[in-house]
Amino acid sequence: MTWKRTSRVGAVLVAAGALGASLLGPAHGNIDDASGRGPKEPAKEPVAVGYGGAVSTVDAEATAAGMRMLRRGGTAADAAIAAAAALGVTEPFSAGIGGGGFFVHYDAATGEVSTLDGRETAPAAATDQLFIDQATGEPLPFQEARVSGLSVGTPGTLQTWQEALDRWGRYPLRFALRPAIRLARGGFVVDETFRAQVEGNADIFADFPASAELFLPDGAPPEVGTKLKNPALAETYGLIAKHGTEVFYSGEIAADIAATVQSPPVDDDADRTVRPGALSVDDLAGYRVIEREPTLVDYRGLQVFGMGPPSSGGSTVGEALNILENVDLSADDEASALHHYLEASALAFADRNRYVGDPDVVDVPLAELLSQGFADERACELDPERAAAKPVAPGSPDGDYAACGEAGTAGTATSPDGSTTHLTTADRWGNVVSYTLTIEQTGGSGIAVPDRGFLLNNELTDFNFAPTQGDAPDPNLPGPGKRPRSSMSPTVVLDDGEPFLALGTPGGATIITTVLQTLLNRLELGMDLPEAVAAPRMSQLNNPATFAEPAVIGSPLAAELEALGHVLSETGEIGAATGIEFLGDGRLQAVAEPERRGGGSADVLFPLNPPSGEP
Ligand code: GLU
Repeated sequence: MTWKRTSRVGAVLVAAGALGASLLGPAHGNIDDASGRGPKEPAKEPVAVGYGGAVSTVDAEATAAGMRMLRRGGTAADAAIAAAAALGVTEPFSAGIGGGGFFVHYDAATGEVSTLDGRETAPAAATDQLFIDQATGEPLPFQEARVSGLSVGTPGTLQTWQEALDRWGRYPLRFALRPAIRLARGGFVVDETFRAQVEGNADIFADFPASAELFLPDGAPPEVGTKLKNPALAETYGLIAKHGTEVFYSGEIAADIAATVQSPPVDDDADRTVRPGALSVDDLAGYRVIEREPTLVDYRGLQVFGMGPPSSGGSTVGEALNILENVDLSADDEASALHHYLEASALAFADRNRYVGDPDVVDVPLAELLSQGFADERACELDPERAAAKPVAPGSPDGDYAACGEAGTAGTATSPDGSTTHLTTADRWGNVVSYTLTIEQTGGSGIAVPDRGFLLNNELTDFNFAPTQGDAPDPNLPGPGKRPRSSMSPTVVLDDGEPFLALGTPGGATIITTVLQTLLNRLELGMDLPEAVAAPRMSQLNNPATFAEPAVIGSPLAAELEALGHVLSETGEIGAATGIEFLGDGRLQAVAEPERRGGGSADVLFPLNPPSGEP
């Protein structure tokens, strides 16, 4: 492959920003022109190869924060938390202490893979009517549910950070927060992605003075290249650094979160109904991160570990891989390989929709969903010559797989919406972290906690608003204390017990297919990891149409898939993956997106210099 040395993107942005700022006139209190004061955006490379540890995130500042921990002798967990805290500053619409996530850790000393479930919970007062308009009996329109107190789940991110550091860190949380505090206080350079994400939410932020103050300086999205500060978040992180996570879960920040949800601080002039939620200080005080068993499937001799319920990531990726073990996938016939990828995705999504929810509330037949017997039965549905009509029906993971399953009721269409971020780290001891965190939609609920500098999630809209499974029970209806089903799929692949790959991505339900497609690109289609991440994506979520990136549409490959009966629907970017491959001899290859979301940032502690073609 060809190594591409990208230019210092930050320098380009600074020049553009200086111009933008001068046209704008005097700067708002939280913005500077980026002409030299304070920190500069670090250089950004999508691929790095070397030794001693690695960090890959969607953002140069976050990667730099993680690398700083590695340089100071921190572990993969230390680096992951420092990077995640920095993302709370620079990617506040995808990540932050107002949200939740799933943390997967490989421990080199024990060979053990562990997972932490930091998913948000519904308030104790929630019922299955959470998103039903009691006046009409109908589900609320999505945006009305999203931009409300109803959608806000009890955040799990901060407790996840503390728990991960307690188990696998060398440094205390206050140390891991330092780079992020500096960034929030000193400011960071606004890039195209940041500005576009503000633009996409501008009408919502404008209705909440606390959100507008953070993200609409001078009443408009900040110019690309200007420097944006978030002193309120610096102060919040500082409080947490000083007093510990209790200040968030049972102290003054908890009180502010509950007040914000119960009485959303909407602008007097706002022309929107903002429903209050029930999230209380008791919900915050009672929140617990849970250690879950990782999911595990064997795929052609590799051990693929993922996140179990309430995420559907591990089970759906795992089931699809098990189904695909029945098929000869080969780079020589890419259309056939991708046809089977799409069909296996649809089958696994039908089963996800029928069976996966919060395992503490519903009975998830996880072992059967991950069994090779069930997957072999589902593989009976594959037709190498023809795409099945979608949605396909779920199967029966009942332990009885003597014959191919009979058709059940149809599945339901799944939406790809949402946004999130994934980061991957490794350290000098060989520990690995694959961590996906989110506030759900890009911009979450749109509601910032006044004077605290962060947005609240809208994770509870990941519940189904009304039953979706016909006569069968729906595993993902809201309920008290329940965790909504997720698609987040932080993944670690071992080869004979040793790390081989770690990866993940944002993208709502397309997370699952992006992780699956990237694995297949790498393992079956002859691509190295940078190529596997960069390759055009398609996503089949058991919908009549398959989402396909523009590069797929109109291609010879698309024509072959359409001839098999696939209906391709053009969509923008799918996902923004990051990963690390362990190349042997201690060499690491850290990989981020070259283009999507403006390109990510990969770094290693001791780079191989110069980067030399094939790893
Ligand atoms: N809330 C989504 C989930 O947990 C993630 C949103 C996204 O990645 O875009 O599945």
